[in-house]
Amino acid sequence: MMHIEVFTFNPFQENTLVLSDDSGACVIVDPGCFEDHEKAELQAYVEEKGLKVEGLLNTHCHVDHVLGNAWVARTYGVELTMHRLDLPTFKANEVVAPQYGFAAYEAANPVHFVDEGDQITFGNTTLEIFFTPGHAPGHIVFYHREQGVVIGGDVLFRGSIGRTDLPGGDFDTLAASIRSKLYTLPEEVVVYPGHGPETNIGFEKQNNPFVKG
Ligand SMILES: [Zn+2]
Repeated sequence: MMHIEVFTFNPFQENTLVLSDDSGACVIVDPGCFEDHEKAELQAYVEEKGLKVEGLLNTHCHVDHVLGNAWVARTYGVELTMHRLDLPTFKANEVVAPQYGFAAYEAANPVHFVDEGDQITFGNTTLEIFFTPGHAPGHIVFYHREQGVVIGGDVLFRGSIGRTDLPGGDFDTLAASIRSKLYTLPEEVVVYPGHGPETNIGFEKQNNPFVKG
C-alpha cells in the first residue's frame, strides 16, 4: 500500500509529495521547500513516520519544483532522478531562480536519467515512468498501477492543464501527452498534480475545458 503525503510549498503553491509504503521506505517528488520552516515541516514528517528516504524524483525542473532538491539530496544522502530532456529547464534555473527571488537556490546534481518504460522501485513499491512533454520538454509522470494513482506534475490539473508558454513548452505536444498517456488510463485513476487538488481521469475527460477526452 503506497501512502501519498502532499505538502504545499513556496509562493507558487507547489505540491511536494512524499510517497511511502509499509516497509518504511519513501521517495520525495518535486521538493519545492525553500524556507527553513518548509524544510522543517517535511523533515518532521519523515522523522515522525520513521521513514527512510530512498530517492529524489523530479517530474520536471521548473524552479518551483526543484527549490528543495539540494537540501533533500544532502539531508538524506539521495541522488536526483529526472529525464535527460529536462536538463535545459534544470540549467535555466541558474538565471530563473534569482529572477523569481530565490537567490539562495542551490542546484542538486542530476545523477539518474529515466525514460518512458523505465521503473522506479522503493521498498515494495514500483512506479512506472511515462514521458509526457509539452509543459516542459523532459516532463515525466509516475504511475502506480496497482492503486491507480498518477503523480502528474504540471501536465493535467483539476479543470486545467500545465502552461505551455515557457521555454520548451508546446500546446499540441502537451495535448498529445494527455490524450495518449493519461486519458488512456482507467477513468477512476487519481491524478496528484503539482498544483491544486487531486482529480481523476474520468472527470477530466468529461470536464477539462482545454483538452477534451
Ligand atoms: Zn512546471
